[in-house]
Amino acid sequence: MTTNEELWERALRVSPGGVNSPVRAFRAVGGGTPYFVARGEGAYVFDVEGRRYIDYVQSYGASILGHAHPKVVEAARKAAGRGSTFGAPTPGEVELAEEICARVEGCQEVRLVSSGTEAAMSAVRLARGVTGRDRVVLFAGCYHGHSDALLAGGGSGMATLGVPASAGVARSAVADTLVVPYNRVPDLGNDVAAVIVEPIAANMGLVPPAPGFLAGLREACTKAGALLIFDEVITGFRVARGGASTLVRLQPDLWCFGKVVGGGFPLAGFGGRRELMEQLAPAGAVYQAGTLSGNPVATAAALATLSLLDDGGYTALSAYTGRLAAGLAGIAREAGLELQVPVAGPLLGVFFGTEPVLDYEGARRSAATGLFPPLMRGLLEKGVAIAPGPYEILFPSLAHGEQDLHETLDAFAEVAKKLAPAQEPSA
Ligand SMILES: *Cc1c(COP(=O)(O)O)cnc(C)c1O
Repeated sequence: MTTNEELWERALRVSPGGVNSPVRAFRAVGGGTPYFVARGEGAYVFDVEGRRYIDYVQSYGASILGHAHPKVVEAARKAAGRGSTFGAPTPGEVELAEEICARVEGCQEVRLVSSGTEAAMSAVRLARGVTGRDRVVLFAGCYHGHSDALLAGGGSGMATLGVPASAGVARSAVADTLVVPYNRVPDLGNDVAAVIVEPIAANMGLVPPAPGFLAGLREACTKAGALLIFDEVITGFRVARGGASTLVRLQPDLWCFGKVVGGGFPLAGFGGRRELMEQLAPAGAVYQAGTLSGNPVATAAALATLSLLDDGGYTALSAYTGRLAAGLAGIAREAGLELQVPVAGPLLGVFFGTEPVLDYEGARRSAATGLFPPLMRGLLEKGVAIAPGPYEILFPSLAHGEQDLHETLDAFAEVAKKLAPAQEPSA
């Protein structure tokens, strides 16, 4: 039998850092061997050694029905049998675009791409093309994929012009990127092409928008003639049928979709009002393209997934999440562990500390406690998998049930007992 250890040694020899996306390595939780997934089924993943984990990673939110939903598998299998890529339009692309536009109020056209990175990168290009301006404003702690212009750091407590957040990103590539703190409406000059924001921030742990923040942004953008981009790669089709914009009843100018919308396949998209989207090639002057864009296997899986997501599903998912959050918070309190468990519908995060977290500074304070690695590892040992990084959130799926909830809380109760004494009392 293959072991995790053996695969990890082989992976380290042929892949940089052993992984194809850095968040999958265990470096943020003290290093070591990750579990290699042999298969997933509903709420569970099974590693190559046959261990079962209740899975709250769910592909960082790409999976909402749970793993290998039979209807999605069937749709993908059938589509693959008809041929997996053509370089000509296919019916699935039309159907998926119609479905997205029907769900997301105000979104009249979409362009399908293959990753959230592409969606955000292209939305920004479109905004720059439409406005004829260069500056882009983003919020510290939000993630918009790894395109150069959006891979900017800074924004510690105040607005700063971006500095490259990675080696290899030219200073010139982020020279027009302004990084500002989340949950505060920035002053916008008339040189701003776009403000891009996660309407519910979920890449610095979970940080819901403060009352008035998104409405304030909407107003500021309109006033400055800048486009507002909601990056709904996580929230789209996860927090509600129409995503976060329908929840908060605010329409951005452009939306980015990914993760859930792909039904577990490499598919994402961006959309908006017709007159904006028609500026894209071939109709307009803003170039954007992709060999595998709107891939027929991916659109089939996406359509099958969305067809299973109705209002009842979101209510059920939020109910599970609410009970999980209440359970975690109650157990932490009893154990004397200072824990924040923010929730936004079906999204759930954990922070260490006594104060609710409002921005990246707060998220960093939580991470600096050093309590996340033992939490993650403790849970994993007990058969509960959460993403191996302090800035990730938990993703319950529609496949998680009563028994999973109890097992998760039992596992957490044991881990919390060990963590509480290790916590520094807050000043
Ligand atoms: C995951 C994510 C992205 C990037 O998507 P990829 O498919 O990983 O390229 C962009 N924005 C947000 C909000 C995300 O969570």
